Amino acid sequence: MELNQLLERITDEIAPLRGAGSVADYIPALARVDPSRFGIAVADLDGGVHGTGDWEIPFSVQSISKVFTLALVLADSDDVLWQRVGREPSGSPFNSLVQLEHERGIPRNPFINAGALIVTDQLISLVGDASTELLALLRAESGNADLRVDDEVAGSEAAHADRNLALTHFMASYGNMRNPVATVLDQYFRQCSIAMSCRDLALAGLFLAAHGLRRDGSSMLTSRQAKRINAIMLTCGTYDAAGEFAYRVGVPGKSGVGGGILAIIPGRCSIAVWSPGLDKRGNSVAGVAALDHFTTLTGWSIF
Ligand code: GLU
Repeated sequence: MELNQLLERITDEIAPLRGAGSVADYIPALARVDPSRFGIAVADLDGGVHGTGDWEIPFSVQSISKVFTLALVLADSDDVLWQRVGREPSGSPFNSLVQLEHERGIPRNPFINAGALIVTDQLISLVGDASTELLALLRAESGNADLRVDDEVAGSEAAHADRNLALTHFMASYGNMRNPVATVLDQYFRQCSIAMSCRDLALAGLFLAAHGLRRDGSSMLTSRQAKRINAIMLTCGTYDAAGEFAYRVGVPGKSGVGGGILAIIPGRCSIAVWSPGLDKRGNSVAGVAALDHFTTLTGWSIF
């Protein structure tokens, strides 16, 4: 079956799930998004990109940005970061404080909020303006020079930041923060508030399917580094439901509370799906179902 036909079929099959779940409302600007939106895009290693539904409408990437900040930091150095953050699934909610106290300010992995704040802190130490560096990467890889931070979403996050403030101060109290808390949070909110479409995101993530090679053939990461990011996506990328996601979809994935999911099929393609209704763990209901159909119909799970 042609990829376009396959995506149309999946879009039809998940139609009853459009609007299921609930939109993230702890960031008020996200609560205003229409929950029945659905889009999916697949970018293949030859540079082709296919999509259906709302695949060209920008949405808030939120935690999906964490994949790209991690790639920027690891591209510079593999070692330093792993003294400050672990790489095990947390089994706890993405914004939990409890585990952080037990483990003395060292977050379990780079994709829970605490871990992502460490990655952003490290990126600030490397480049200064971390979110601008991230935007440059995303613009180059997606080919979309118009990608922007949505200032309204960033402002909304900053105005409702008690939990992220607590996490960052808590890590600072253990000596695991190099830059001022306010600077790290400002950059973190800006990175999470970047707006991208499924098309942009699938193209931007392609280097992870291409063993670290960017679309122009240059190296973003070594194949070993790309393998490692994919492994962390598989084990830690979908909140405390990474086991369920691996069971249903069977490929590395990273979700965000904006309802997007970036999924990577190493050696084949990168897939971005978006539908804002979230399940209780914070993953898009229709998005996970669509990816489940995709890997089932194509047989392209890594298992
Ligand atoms: N900016 C969001 C937060 O820090 C990201 C959450 C997410 O997508 O997991 O709460």
